[in-house]
Amino acid sequence: MDHLINAFEKLNGLLFESWLQPLLFELGCVNLAEDAYMASEWFLLGILQIAIMVVLIRPLEKFFALEKHQEPASVRVDVMYTLIQTLGLFRLFFFLLFSMPIDWIWGYLRTLGVPTFHLELLIPGLADQPLMSFLVYLVVFDFFNYWIHRAQHQIPAWWALHALHHSQRSMSYWTDSRGHLLDDVLLAMVGVLMSSLIGLQPGQFVGLIVVSRLFESVQHANIDLRWWGVLEKLWVSPRFHRTHHAVGIGHEFKDGQLGGHNFGVLLPWWDIMWGTANFSHHYEPTGVRDQVFEGVSYGDGFWEQQWLGLKRLWVTLANTHRAH
Ligand SMILES: [Zn+2]
Ligand SMILES: [Zn+2]
Repeated sequence: MDHLINAFEKLNGLLFESWLQPLLFELGCVNLAEDAYMASEWFLLGILQIAIMVVLIRPLEKFFALEKHQEPASVRVDVMYTLIQTLGLFRLFFFLLFSMPIDWIWGYLRTLGVPTFHLELLIPGLADQPLMSFLVYLVVFDFFNYWIHRAQHQIPAWWALHALHHSQRSMSYWTDSRGHLLDDVLLAMVGVLMSSLIGLQPGQFVGLIVVSRLFESVQHANIDLRWWGVLEKLWVSPRFHRTHHAVGIGHEFKDGQLGGHNFGVLLPWWDIMWGTANFSHHYEPTGVRDQVFEGVSYGDGFWEQQWLGLKRLWVTLANTHRAH
């Protein structure tokens, strides 16, 4: 693992020195070197992620396909979402943007004598064990993500955006990235806030993102797969997440009730604890209820989907305003 990380750092350093640094020098913005280094790291990790997805997950879809007939055009849009998210540096931009005020607040608190909080320092010896401390952070982060995902379904305005992720009726290993750009901005904001609260280092944060993205890609894959025995209750499987996307369970928030199941992102534990887990082994069509039963359109192409998302948000906000 260490060798892999070293090789990756070397490659990134090489690319940075031979391409980016001379370019920044030429443009007269050497002061951006640190951000540019992080951006190139992010970009390279994105390429690596897509390579792993295509080499490892695509064959699984080929051999264990669950839905034999999928809408190719609809899957192609998800490929575009993945490219925008992993290579588009869009998310990184917002991470850097939101980090600024938070860093400033922490800096100010430090001058008042408030120490920076690091979760790993709470347990003696944990900081010396990188793998264990990474796992502890993963569990804490996932706990937060469970509640964030519930909020995406429960807060009508947030659901107006998150519904786009659920509108895919031909789910594949590309679907994880399908989402509204405004939803991404909100998630980036909450993500920066969470990592600063638990004292996550940038390196650990990137590690968490990479691990999460790969497993989330597997979860959305068009495969008939659940984990063996008790593992199914320990780690989210494609079957577990597909149930979250099932139309029949009704994942919309209605009459003051949170519908749906399986909000856990990597660990099903929180769903088990809060009574939202569903381990039944049967597959139903995926999508949003009004899309399937009332023919409501969520858009075919990228821009149409983004535009309709904004419209849904506008209508929801206007309705909430009128109700008060
Ligand atoms: Zn959801
Ligand atoms: Zn999903």
